[in-house]
Amino acid sequence: MGVLDSFRLDGRTAIVTGGNRGIGRAIAEGLADVDANVVIANRDEDAGAEAAADIAADADVETLAVRTDVTSEADVRAMVEEVVDTFGGIDVLVNNAGVTYHNSVADKSVVEFQETIDINLTGAYRCSKYAGEVMKGDGGGVILNVSSMSAFVANYPQHQVDYQVSKGGMEAFKNQLASEWAEHGIRVNNLNPGYVFTDNIVHGEETVETWRSEMLVDEFARPADIAPLAVYLASDAAWYVTGESVVIDGGYTVR
Ligand code: NDP
Repeated sequence: MGVLDSFRLDGRTAIVTGGNRGIGRAIAEGLADVDANVVIANRDEDAGAEAAADIAADADVETLAVRTDVTSEADVRAMVEEVVDTFGGIDVLVNNAGVTYHNSVADKSVVEFQETIDINLTGAYRCSKYAGEVMKGDGGGVILNVSSMSAFVANYPQHQVDYQVSKGGMEAFKNQLASEWAEHGIRVNNLNPGYVFTDNIVHGEETVETWRSEMLVDEFARPADIAPLAVYLASDAAWYVTGESVVIDGGYTVR
């Protein structure tokens, strides 16, 4: 098998939470491009269905949209069941769904803090718990968490402690899950982007220029720039990579 062949996911099934837009959408498109069947799991039913239809039209793969709120255990269980009924199993889970509140500790309510943790971190836990059970029964799989460089550095000048804590927790989550499930053939890694221009990024020119001044590459990433790394980590090309976090940030965290 050649090197490029080891990146292929022909006939495998990949779930991407928040796969309807932004980084998740780009990852879903990347996985479909190497022939994985893709499941889009997000809250907005119409947006999910549209993304799934577009991806199926562009790549010769099967897609499925399942309306899922990752804060609902019932939703996650039902989504996993529907995926197994449709495709027979789960090979890859990408825990990508994520939000943040752009406000300081003083202004952020406890409810807002908990909401972010519930989506970004506990949501990844819910999905991994139920998808992982399926993977264990089938001899293995891959879990890829979309974390952030914010797991390792403080964000500035904007404040978003809810987000930092959720992504910091995702590092410990990944370590523990990789360790606990290695014996079941499940690899668990984190992908940690820097600033990528999506709906998630809402900041003024001054803030954006502050970020740029910290970067080694003078341009911000697009969602499509994150997809190749996700494809690598999801594929057999990365069979020896587990319990790892890979930062992709244009050199931001070096400074
Ligand atoms: P977007 O705001 O563009 O997309 C967020 C996605 O998450 C949407 O698809 C949304 O769909 C979904 N989502 C939100 N809440 C839930 C929920 N409760 N259940 C299911 N799906 C949900 O964000 P990005 O593409 O920018 O971010 C994607 C991931 O990348 C996040 O984890 C983020 O933290 C991470 N990241 C982003 C960076 C950036 O600079 N943009 C940098 C580093 C990491 P819907 O609303 O329909 O549910």
